[in-house]
Amino acid sequence: MEIEELIKESNETARKQGLIWTWKDVARQLMWATSELGEAFEAWRHDDFDHVLEEIADCFITLADLIGDIDKEGKFISILKNKLEYNKTRPRYHGAPKP
Ligand SMILES: [Mg+2]
Repeated sequence: MEIEELIKESNETARKQGLIWTWKDVARQLMWATSELGEAFEAWRHDDFDHVLEEIADCFITLADLIGDIDKEGKFISILKNKLEYNKTRPRYHGAPKP
């Protein structure tokens, strides 16, 4: 699945369920995505690999839905590609001590 498809499908599904986000909803949705990562952490604590992946998927879907609603000019893919290229230029461990 392409990123564009993920955004479109996540957003269309949410819209059908009445979930339409605006700029004022961004903080709420970011925290929602964060809560999905918290669920992934709990699943990891229980050594439940499939559940970890499921919660990470929830996080991706939450963010993709948000992007679908707020990125009216379609900037996200370009920004994502730029970040991926930038990360290739960063030093080993991104300049921090070995994690
Ligand atoms: Mg979840």
